[in-house]
Amino acid sequence: AQERYASIRDIPAKAACGTRIELHMNAGLMADLPSLESSGAEGVGLFRTELQFLVRNQMPKRTELAALYKRILDAADGKRVVFRTLDIGSDKVLPYMKPNDEPNPALGWRAIRVGLDKPGVMQMQLQALLRAADGRPLTIMFPFVAQSDEYYAARREVDKTIAREKRLGHAVPSDIKIGAMLETPSLAYAPTTFFENVDFLSIGGNDLKQFFFAADRENERVRRRYDTLNTSFLTFVEQIINRCAETDTHLSFCGEDAGRPIEALCFAAIGLRCLSMRPASIGPVKHLLMRHDLSEVKAVIDKARNEGAQSVRPAVMEYLRDRT
Ligand code: PEP
Ligand code: MG
Repeated sequence: AQERYASIRDIPAKAACGTRIELHMNAGLMADLPSLESSGAEGVGLFRTELQFLVRNQMPKRTELAALYKRILDAADGKRVVFRTLDIGSDKVLPYMKPNDEPNPALGWRAIRVGLDKPGVMQMQLQALLRAADGRPLTIMFPFVAQSDEYYAARREVDKTIAREKRLGHAVPSDIKIGAMLETPSLAYAPTTFFENVDFLSIGGNDLKQFFFAADRENERVRRRYDTLNTSFLTFVEQIINRCAETDTHLSFCGEDAGRPIEALCFAAIGLRCLSMRPASIGPVKHLLMRHDLSEVKAVIDKARNEGAQSVRPAVMEYLRDRT
């Protein structure tokens, strides 16, 4: 399938109207890295570090992790890699760090909540990342930030770890960006100062959608029940885009929906400029984006919304059909 899009692989994604859309890839294992070259991704927009923890039966050591992260940064060869800190709990349970039985694991002790309650693990991972960067630029992202103080607390852990590394005589990153994943509706309404202070935000659409519609992403009965192009959800995402635009906050979208061409086109039409997806999706998404004018798609979306559509999908599909 990658071959089909080989001719556009090395050209940057631009919609027909000329708007540039950055396309990055999601990764989590060493085996994903060759895709950075073959897919034409501009970087790794989401590196799910928990996968390395999940494939083991005991907590990895700092030195092992540092060696691994170094290989990833070496392979990326200057392209940006967004390392998401350990996102465990809910559907991702470590055999050596099991939470007590929770009635609602998706709403439970997970991700940054674990990181802040057990700072030892978080500090170990941060130290491994700093050692791996060895003076190069570094990008870190905290998962599942529900309110701004969680981000600030995590950021303080990074600052502390950097100070310790300096004291120990280790190189520290020439540039460090620390972002948060927006995966709960609450963060969309955080104070404006949070938007101003965070280095970047990335919408984790899989979780955000689950909480927006109160529909378990793991439950076959309900997980496809609500359309991502549902007017309510799209309008919500648009609000996030607008808040970020007002505060000049870099925003990306890294849930699975970013890799679905029609969804990606609609996200671009409402103002998203950076998407991160499975490597195999980059070609198809770029191909569709290149053929359409975003303001035309936006007009189709707005018209459907104004007419009371529950989802803008039928209108967008009709528009695409008419144009091909
Ligand atoms: C998400 O929630 O959209 C996301 C990218 O993270 P994960 O799928 O790993 O929870
Ligand atoms: Mg998530």
